[in-house]
Amino acid sequence: MAANLVLFGPPGAGKGTQAKRIEQVRRIPQISTGDILREAVQAGTELGLQAKAVMERGELVSDALMVGIVRERLARDDAAGGFILDGFPRTVAQAVALDEILTGRDPLVIIELGVPDQELVERLSRRRVCLRCGATFGAGAGDMPAACTRCGAALVQRSDDREDVVRERLRVYHEQTQPLVAFYEDRPSFRRVEGNQPPDAVHAALGVAIDEALAAVRRQPPPGG
Ligand code: AMP
Repeated sequence: MAANLVLFGPPGAGKGTQAKRIEQVRRIPQISTGDILREAVQAGTELGLQAKAVMERGELVSDALMVGIVRERLARDDAAGGFILDGFPRTVAQAVALDEILTGRDPLVIIELGVPDQELVERLSRRRVCLRCGATFGAGAGDMPAACTRCGAALVQRSDDREDVVRERLRVYHEQTQPLVAFYEDRPSFRRVEGNQPPDAVHAALGVAIDEALAAVRRQPPPGG
């Protein structure tokens, strides 16, 4: 059975870091809608021009635009054997569209990564990203390297990691994304993982939650059967 994963949680919960680790371990692609949008902004494409100002205010890009991007991305060959959606869905309308996109494919495993707001504000104000390769640093404890430890380029603060924008992103999260819990929580493949612990502990807890959820999905009778 393909591991079709959705990882959702507030900004700064560690979704990107954890999704990259799951990608390595399970050999399924990480699909980060935030990364797709940031690449489009950097490349100056039509999508990037539409998304830039919205992202800088900490608001959400329109459902229609996001659903189109994800529909196209999930149709590629590398997603046929499983994927990790990181940052999508972010609204109930996107979740409804995702179910429709995945009709006939293996059921979703949905993981909510929870972290208290105050911890998130502190994490995001510390976070720095590499200008060139996008690697993330300093969200956890420990010293900030002077430059990217992967490629040597300069580290900068993401423009939407400023405290005022972070507070807006959290407000938008509670208003528009948290309703996903009610949308998904009755599914046997829904799990909540505590994100307020060291990254290795979160990784281990995620592994257990994903395996349990996949086992629960396997025990389900097929639709209509
Ligand atoms: P992220 O890197 O996931 O925190 O996303 C950065 C920004 O991209 C968000 O604050 C939104 O403005 C935008 N974005 C990413 N994914 C979505 C989505 N699924 N729906 C709407 N906006 C999104």
